[in-house]
Amino acid sequence: MTQAYEIVEHVYDVVVLGGGGAGLRATMGIVSAGLRTACISKVFPTRSHTVAAQGGIAAALNNMGDGDNWRYHFYDTIKGSDWLGDQDAIEYMCREAPEAVRELEHFGVPFSRTDKGQIYQRPFGGQTLRYGEAMARRTCAAADRTGHAILHTLYQQCLKHNAEFFVEYIALDLLMDSDGSCKGLLAWCMEDGTLHRFRAHQTVLATGGYGRVYFSCTAAHICTGDGNAMALRAGLPLQDMEFTQFHPTGIYGAGCLITEGARGEGGYFTNANGERFMERYAPTAKDLAGRDVVCRAITVEILEGRGCGPNKDYIELQLSHLPRDLLEERLPGIMETARIFAGVDLTREPIPVLPTVHYNMGGIPTNLHGEVVTLRDGNPDATVRGLMAIGEAACVSVHGANRLGSNSLIDLIVFGRAAAHRAAATITPGESHAVLDRQSEERAIDRFDRIRWTDGPRKCGELRLDMQRAMQRYCAVFRDGPLLTEGAAYVGSLYNNLRSELGLTDRSLVWNTDLGEAIELDNMVRQASVSLQSALARTESRGAHAREDYPQRDDANWLKHTLAWMDEDGRIAIDYRPVHMNTPSNDVNPIPPKARVY
Ligand SMILES: Cc1cc2nc3c(=O)[nH]c(=O)nc-3n(C[C@H](O)[C@H](O)[C@H](O)COP(=O)(O)OP(=O)(O)OC[C@H]3O[C@@H](n4cnc5c(N)ncnc54)[C@H](O)[C@@H]3O)c2cc1C
Repeated sequence: MTQAYEIVEHVYDVVVLGGGGAGLRATMGIVSAGLRTACISKVFPTRSHTVAAQGGIAAALNNMGDGDNWRYHFYDTIKGSDWLGDQDAIEYMCREAPEAVRELEHFGVPFSRTDKGQIYQRPFGGQTLRYGEAMARRTCAAADRTGHAILHTLYQQCLKHNAEFFVEYIALDLLMDSDGSCKGLLAWCMEDGTLHRFRAHQTVLATGGYGRVYFSCTAAHICTGDGNAMALRAGLPLQDMEFTQFHPTGIYGAGCLITEGARGEGGYFTNANGERFMERYAPTAKDLAGRDVVCRAITVEILEGRGCGPNKDYIELQLSHLPRDLLEERLPGIMETARIFAGVDLTREPIPVLPTVHYNMGGIPTNLHGEVVTLRDGNPDATVRGLMAIGEAACVSVHGANRLGSNSLIDLIVFGRAAAHRAAATITPGESHAVLDRQSEERAIDRFDRIRWTDGPRKCGELRLDMQRAMQRYCAVFRDGPLLTEGAAYVGSLYNNLRSELGLTDRSLVWNTDLGEAIELDNMVRQASVSLQSALARTESRGAHAREDYPQRDDANWLKHTLAWMDEDGRIAIDYRPVHMNTPSNDVNPIPPKARVY
């Protein structure tokens, strides 16, 4: 049974989808440039996942007097990315970072302070001085609640500039023209059940990551990668989806995050024998090596029988040797999290931890202005008119095969700002809109309606659990060909059977959370499928993608970005685009690939 839906139309210069750090930074910049902008979010903006970011934001400010320099940040980020990051974008991010953070300070972010009153900075994994010689103190922090501080400040700045918000609207799909350009999006208002057409000259996807495809992850329940799936349905590829970051310190059992800042402040790991095992795996950086390196080390310790506890299935993070006042000042949120979720008093006991899914390096490919790119007529950098992507949803790519801690918040801010600059430079306020091609809107409504009336035997939550368990099993820290083949077949059939298996009981349109979750599930299964196929195709190990059957990095064949398209029948096509190994300025030289040791 279907019904005709009435649609409310809105006309803007720019529509930003997402009210996290990336979306709000872009919104603020775009409105202040005089463009009429709508910011749409499925939750109240300050409840976006950015609010949970703990440890900090990277920028080579050199406030701690260690001689830090953005060129070292540039080098560390390339090395951290295992050479899959685009060096032009990395140069841009690291060079702009100090200015972007100072701007945040002026907007009102309450950073922690040094004795001299400057922004406090702590060491984070993989961040070094003089190209790997010593650990840097580069991560600017507001205690262990940095994301909270940034997000609230940006929201206030948006209000100051009179940005317009559409809160608790779930975006369904992009409105694409027959010439391949984007004209806006279609969204469903939870409050009254109406559908809304947002027309815009530029649509900015800032929808965050898709961590929830896994069973154990640090991301919020809303992190379902809706924007990524919207791009797939618009016929666009996703890039590098095989690279999922596991964070070494998820609390055992609960999965919630203990920031890397805990090790930055002096914490370290021990195994069942009380040994500081990271010294064997990363003699210089030890507990502060890249996250992929630490996660593999923990996994090996457990597999070889040196895990802690009755089942030898976790590792301990020691912090009790640190002074209580330091813990209370610098890690107050962590003390609380450890108490609530692990029942541990940090000042006396270690925290049981395990690698947990934390960040998606892959996403919608863009250039360093935030414009979405695709492979078209042999051009790997062809832009998609009217569409931008920023933040965790995007793959610029500054993180390549592995993101360094505190490099995501700076990515949000630098590229949120870059997208705003680009929109301001390319759009005249109030420009008229051409007649809209209705085909993609009709397809979007069709999909919405089909999901709404599904009548299969299984609940959304059960099917979601099947997908999450499968990803946890088939696409984990270590993977190999047979495992990925099995996983791809399993998730592929989950996708193909979704419409016949899924059954909703609530057909209403007002605050129907069952329908909202079903839409998210449909989005997630697509990304799970693309991730498995991209991982299966890449027969090498690089960064977070560790293939047991291909343990070496293979630059001769694999120094390239994966692009994956998926059609409605679940068929996936894979192609590749080159990594940008150039730097636009003469201030830094490109860093050629070499062995990655810490
Ligand atoms: C627990 C935790 C701690 C972290 N700590 C750090 C840290 O210390 N330093 C660091 O650099 N990184 C950290 N990260 C990573 C970083 O926080 C995230 O990568 C980043 O916040 C993502 O920001 P975003 O703006 O891209 O997306 P998000 O903050 O996830 O926001 C996404 C927005 O999109 C909206 N949205 C999505 N889909 C739809 C839809 N269909 N319709 C309408 N709206 C939609 C949501 O409502 C939301 O407003 C951490 C991550 C986690 C999970």
